[in-house]
Amino acid sequence: MSDCKRVYRFGTDAQGTCVTEGDKSMNFVLGGKGANLAEMSRIGLPVPGGFTITCQTCVEYSGAGNVWPEGALDEIVAAEADLEARCGKKLGDDNDPLLVSVRSGAPFSMPGMMDTVLNLGLNDDSVQGLIAQTQNPRFAWDSYRRFIQMFSNVVMGVDADLFENALTQARLVAGVRVDSELSAEDLQELVETFKGIFSENVEAALYPELEVVDGKPVFPHDPELQLRLAIQAVFGSWMNERACIYRKQHGISDELGTAVNVQAMAFGNKGETSATGVAFTRNPADGTKEFYGDFLVNAQGEDVVAGIRNTEPIADLKTTPGLESAGEELERVFLTLEDHYRDMCDIEFTIEQGKLWMLQTRVGKRTATAALRIAIEMVEEGLITREEAVSRIDPAQLDQLLHPQFDSSKKYEALACGLNASPGAAVGEVVFSSGDAVARANEGHKVILVRWETNPDDLKGMVAAEGILTSHGGKTSHAAVIARGMGTPCVCGVERFHIDATEKVVRIEGSDRVLHEGDVISIDGTQGIVVDGAVDLVSAELTGDLDTILSWADEIRLDETDGHANHVRVNADNPEDAELALEFGAEAIGLCRTEHMFLGDRKNIIQSFILSDDEAVKQQALADLLKVQTEDFLAMFKTMTGRDVVVRLIDPPLHEFLDDPRELEVAITKKEAAGASEEELAALRACLRRIDGMVESNPMLGLRGVRLSVVFGDLPLMQVRAVSTAAARLIKEGVDPRPEIMVPLVSITAEHVQTREVIERVIAEVSAEEGVELNIPVGTMLELPRACMVADEIAQHADFFCFGTNDLTQTTFGFSRDDAEAKFIPLYMHKKILKDNPFETIDSAVLELVRMAVEKGRATNPGMHFGVCGEHGGDPKSIKGLFNVADVDYVSCSPYRVPLARLAAAQAKLDAKRSA
Ligand code: PEP
Ligand code: MG
Repeated sequence: MSDCKRVYRFGTDAQGTCVTEGDKSMNFVLGGKGANLAEMSRIGLPVPGGFTITCQTCVEYSGAGNVWPEGALDEIVAAEADLEARCGKKLGDDNDPLLVSVRSGAPFSMPGMMDTVLNLGLNDDSVQGLIAQTQNPRFAWDSYRRFIQMFSNVVMGVDADLFENALTQARLVAGVRVDSELSAEDLQELVETFKGIFSENVEAALYPELEVVDGKPVFPHDPELQLRLAIQAVFGSWMNERACIYRKQHGISDELGTAVNVQAMAFGNKGETSATGVAFTRNPADGTKEFYGDFLVNAQGEDVVAGIRNTEPIADLKTTPGLESAGEELERVFLTLEDHYRDMCDIEFTIEQGKLWMLQTRVGKRTATAALRIAIEMVEEGLITREEAVSRIDPAQLDQLLHPQFDSSKKYEALACGLNASPGAAVGEVVFSSGDAVARANEGHKVILVRWETNPDDLKGMVAAEGILTSHGGKTSHAAVIARGMGTPCVCGVERFHIDATEKVVRIEGSDRVLHEGDVISIDGTQGIVVDGAVDLVSAELTGDLDTILSWADEIRLDETDGHANHVRVNADNPEDAELALEFGAEAIGLCRTEHMFLGDRKNIIQSFILSDDEAVKQQALADLLKVQTEDFLAMFKTMTGRDVVVRLIDPPLHEFLDDPRELEVAITKKEAAGASEEELAALRACLRRIDGMVESNPMLGLRGVRLSVVFGDLPLMQVRAVSTAAARLIKEGVDPRPEIMVPLVSITAEHVQTREVIERVIAEVSAEEGVELNIPVGTMLELPRACMVADEIAQHADFFCFGTNDLTQTTFGFSRDDAEAKFIPLYMHKKILKDNPFETIDSAVLELVRMAVEKGRATNPGMHFGVCGEHGGDPKSIKGLFNVADVDYVSCSPYRVPLARLAAAQAKLDAKRSA
């Protein structure tokens, strides 16, 4: 048996003295609703008395197969008696009955997901008491029928339509249009009908505690039994399907349980001086400082939600006859709440015959625009500090501000789901190849590029497309990384899409729908969904508020009084992205992936280098590449003058630059059929043989990264020469280029040492040729566990480390980054084998490798700096760990993520300060 306290009181005693036992810090014990009801009572706001049964009781009850923990029911019965004494009324009394509401309240808000029962305590006796007390038989019978309806549906699972149908029938018989026109007699009759529906539809065997007459269960008369069954139902609703789905979507743990709040009813439907409503202390859509919300005269909460009658704006409350003083009091409550919570609150209230009662409050949800506005205004009002303002903004929410989204007021149905690989939404015609994307876009059409998976060759089409959809690949796949870099919406791993790019159709598993080229679809890369047809898009306004918050974030993250600034760089490989990133506040380039510089017109050149046996042809190809690469770096370094640009030597397996051997085979066959010359065919067959000879079983673990420098030394050396030459020429022009050269995928110290020797030789050669002193640091990209283990050794030969956490995650787990996310990671998360997708949020073991490597590196080379340029560098959760646990100097991410990385880097600093 557990001896913990299970029931906490809130409100006042009969003398008006506060007897509240909890407070707002007790979210995980009393749930959000219970904790805030306690807090409101504590600060003297008018809250109907009640008690909260703890979340832990729910967990124990569910864990034991719906068996009450020992002593729990006794505590509840005692709390019930105490509440009766405090209210001076008894449940079920036939003179002046106490009625209660029974509401769920989990530690995190789960709107509409769990159960609520109102008017509990009514029975054939107490309804008479209610009539006597209110002199309002219509109100009493209406309350009773609502209670039976809610109790039967929510607690006993009787189909809600049976009651709605009976209600419709009653309206027809009475010849009235709406429920409120039904008379007391009509409602009294309806109560009998509802009790009949209960008896016919509840299975007696499931509820042995119910009285049975003629083999049928009878609606429970005993309020204590009503209460126990209602509490059990609320506990049970924690595990109902919709609540489970909601928790999964919002990352809320199933282990938390829900609290149950039992509270004296306040009636908003006792006539024209009663009302009910919901409100925010500021406008949650745009943050304007105004009271915001609606109310409904003579109504219960469910009427507001049902939208049967039009609600009135909250501003009109204090001028509504009979509600003036409650309206004035409500405005004072708004101010008290904001002052107390130091944040925008949302509330539910009821006015019963002119008297205001507060039923709920919590810190209100808001859009990104409103979050920025409210935080800034509260700093100006002196309510919060700049630090608090910065820590209140959710970095992930900033995506809302930088990309268009689906209009949430419009209805749409997902045709299929995939991974939310790059945020934002797009609408366009389906195209199946990069070439078609470019051609149709040039004709003025908006297109969505639909591919099995993209490769570097698709870049032009990806640039031309409004959005990208792939049926394979995960969040670090080519499509995902490139799309995020460009700020283009992308949904990856849409496995239900069976794409036939040759026939230009998509067959959709589990659906008859077949998509053809030119069909319009909408994709939402923020949520990872695909919709048939066009969905309206909305783009949020980018206001100066974002700049204000980010400038405060910069002050915080760049403050070096603790000896450490949190820097933010960008992953960019062309001057346009670099410029955009500077606008977004990037301080430097943390990763320039040079392989994208070999595409388009240059693909032929690199192909002739790779495929030719003729040394002269190879050297010519290198010379051509040197020329164009030097131009690339001139442009990049100029844009980034005075700022570091980390240039990574070529990394991917070379076959990524070659034609697909299957396509080449088809081409040869076609040429044979068309009677092409033997000479041409021989050349093509030789080409095919060479490509086939380069095929590897596991290219991502094969001839790539530094291994290319060792095996095909000429190619990376050409790159070093291009970097050095560009730097030397710019220095002569008075520009301040700051290139750094990074060697990828190192695992063995000697790989790095030998490569570095050659790099330095080339730099020295160029320096001599150009007559300019060049100081170009050379660093290592740590993306393999072995490299982390020997980081102290490698550090002696490196000027910096930058962690490629995409490959480090792949190699630490042994999960293929191209397949795992679509194939089994969702299932692993569903089965709770994994909590987060490790390609998105850095895994603790990977983080430990980074931490260890930083520590080892600093030990042997105290002057070096450390960065992270994998996708984790743009993930808010990972950013905190990377700065505060692994102690890196910077994170580097795609341009569109730079603003959120700046914010998360500042929050990391604040977290570190708090825990220091
Ligand atoms: C990485 O592996 O984390 C990285 C940045 O390199 P790439 O994604 O290009 O392999
Ligand atoms: Mg890598």
